[in-house]
Amino acid sequence: MKEVVPSPPAIVRNDVAAVQSLFQQNVVPSYGRFDIVLSHGVGSYLYDVTGKRYLDLGGGIAVSSLGHAHPAIVEALTDQARKVIHSSNFYYHESQGRLAQSLVNLIGPGKCFFGNSGVEANEGLFKLARKFGHDEGRFEILTTINSFHGRTLAGIAATGQEKVKKGFEPMVPGFRQVLYDDLEAMTAAISPATVAIMVEGVQGEGGVTPASPEYLLGLRRLCDEKKLLLFMDGVQCGHFRTGRFQSFQRILEGTANDFLPDAISMAKSLGGGFPIGAFWVRAPYADLLSAGTHGTTFGGSPLACSVALSILQVIQRENLGENARRVGDFLKNGLLALREKYPGVVQNARGLGLMIGLELTPNISNLPGETSKTQAVRFANLLHAAGLLTIPAGAQILRFLPPLNLRQSEAEEGLKIVESVVARLAA
Ligand code: PLP
Repeated sequence: MKEVVPSPPAIVRNDVAAVQSLFQQNVVPSYGRFDIVLSHGVGSYLYDVTGKRYLDLGGGIAVSSLGHAHPAIVEALTDQARKVIHSSNFYYHESQGRLAQSLVNLIGPGKCFFGNSGVEANEGLFKLARKFGHDEGRFEILTTINSFHGRTLAGIAATGQEKVKKGFEPMVPGFRQVLYDDLEAMTAAISPATVAIMVEGVQGEGGVTPASPEYLLGLRRLCDEKKLLLFMDGVQCGHFRTGRFQSFQRILEGTANDFLPDAISMAKSLGGGFPIGAFWVRAPYADLLSAGTHGTTFGGSPLACSVALSILQVIQRENLGENARRVGDFLKNGLLALREKYPGVVQNARGLGLMIGLELTPNISNLPGETSKTQAVRFANLLHAAGLLTIPAGAQILRFLPPLNLRQSEAEEGLKIVESVVARLAA
């Protein structure tokens, strides 16, 4: 199913210390980084500068939708770069129009706006909400506890996690958080100033928690009754990760096939590693952001849109939504089997498709590493040593957000690595 292109030769120079020192001296230290210096990747694998190979089940935080060095992405990048990389939004070009059309076809009647990242897509929606409520003096957006919506000032105000806000107060006004998947809490929180609700279909940074169908249907009813806009942040859980294009389509499958929110933010897997973000807005509101009200220099460039279009073609041609569902079920069931075998180390596994969270049992007694670090980070370090990349979320959860074309044999290899680490800790 997956074409594998030859990887570039590994640069086997032990440059770890030299590269880390470049970072220490010259890069703002706003990220906690692992002790890995990467060199290159191919398919579902990444290599570090020492030549060590890692199975990449973190997918660059749900970004590498077709894995590394996929020929379709390489071809789209090089072909389009020879024609025109950037033109600005003063002019029309075909690939932005065609990408918007593809997204509209996958969601429903509406229009798209293109930016460069997830938080920018959300910022666009915050502005859309303000425009919608402006003449009535409504501006407040309700979001949920444990949500994540990005790192700009409005992004952290919208995010339901104190750690992203700390030190950056005062917060941008107009955001409040309530319990996730709790319709009563959302209903009770609505004030005369409320204009929109934003939720993730599956909370990602919050620890891989899917919304229930009743919640989503209840939010739709509530928004219709109270004249609010319903926004879904599909940045992490979108783009076929759960098995359908958007997570609500998967969650509501067979229950409400005609469900639509009023807008959806997208990024990450949309560009497979090339930066692109987008939002879709439902038809009645699609012209609210009129000429001159919103924009970005780079958004929807010919290069970004060509890459995104080529990724969508591969996903559709190879039916990668179905692959995400099938291989995702296999991976999740394998992790759940570890819970049965090693309850002292694995507490749970949950998720949809290839968005899976492995929850560790609290206080694993013999987990090595500095105790100032979370269990999730210390466990991730053990997985790295064993050749597997995953993404920590919160204190106890490891996320699996691999390429959508992950093979079952690769999922099996990942499970074996996880089991080797778990078994050692359980011994
Ligand atoms: N929304 C969600 C649900 C996310 O998971 C993220 C990033 O992890 C963002 C928004 C922000 O996206 P970006 O980092 O591209 O700005």
